[in-house]
Amino acid sequence: GKRVGGRYQILSRLGEGGMAIVYKAKDLILDRMVAVKTLRPELSGDEEFVRRFHREAESVASLSHPNIVAIYDIGEEDCYYIVMEYVEGMTLKEFIKDYSPIAINESIFIMKQILLAITHAHEHGIVHRDIKPQNILINESERVKVTDFGIALAVSGATITYTHSIMGSAHYLSPEQARGGKATVKSDIYAIGIVMFELLTGKLPFPGTSPVSVALKHLSSPIPYPRDFREDIPQSVENVLIRALAKNPSDRYNSVTDMYHDLLTALDPERANEQRLIFAE
Ligand code: ATP
Ligand code: MG
Ligand code: MG
Repeated sequence: GKRVGGRYQILSRLGEGGMAIVYKAKDLILDRMVAVKTLRPELSGDEEFVRRFHREAESVASLSHPNIVAIYDIGEEDCYYIVMEYVEGMTLKEFIKDYSPIAINESIFIMKQILLAITHAHEHGIVHRDIKPQNILINESERVKVTDFGIALAVSGATITYTHSIMGSAHYLSPEQARGGKATVKSDIYAIGIVMFELLTGKLPFPGTSPVSVALKHLSSPIPYPRDFREDIPQSVENVLIRALAKNPSDRYNSVTDMYHDLLTALDPERANEQRLIFAE
């Protein structure tokens, strides 16, 4: 079969997105499975995409967390590629489609892992900017790994602007981004809120087929109550979701850590304090 960078034997295609095609491959030197993300050949001549592809590897390389896909190697022999941890399982998009309604406990177990992953990224100054279920991988034991920091940006150095067409799906776009503002910690929190809504209800809060109509809903449609879709959602959990999806960024959680702690408190006010101590260590 085909090889990339000499040592990676391509085995099968795992998935693709706007920017890349991802393959399952075998690292012939370390004798293990890896995922190889290759920049689409038609984008390889475009300096901007090549830079962004490198930046993705740099962003993730600075992170080390059990809920973030680890980067092993990058190269540009044969094609531009990033080698990363292989996650056996499916995307959270497929998981939601196949298993909804997902038990509340399970949804929360998954949510906590996403919140811990993004807390880690934010603590290292990295905003993900493309949080959506397609970029969250989940295995059989419901261990979650966030991937695709492809448009992530170090918070300090935001000078490049992108058109949203290549930036991802309108369904996860915060109201301030819909107005043309740049992505921030708060817009990641909003996107996490949309993912949480989908996990709990199996539905998007603001569905639609045209990006413009969806963006308008983010801006001015009231947040649908998840409890109208499913009555076994605790009121306290719904409150967390409503706060993550606040239209005005200043009404939203200030940090993913705050959202995490609020979710713990919502579930079990007694245990939240214990957990808070563990989390602080
Ligand atoms: P986007 O258009 O969202 O920016 P992309 O082109 O940057 O996507 P990724 O999201 O990184 O590409 O990967 C595309 C798909 O490949 C994922 O949705 C997933 O199905 C699969 N995939 C990515 N990384 C892995 C991995 N480490 N292990 C297993 N499958 C993966
Ligand atoms: Mg993706
Ligand atoms: Mg991407």
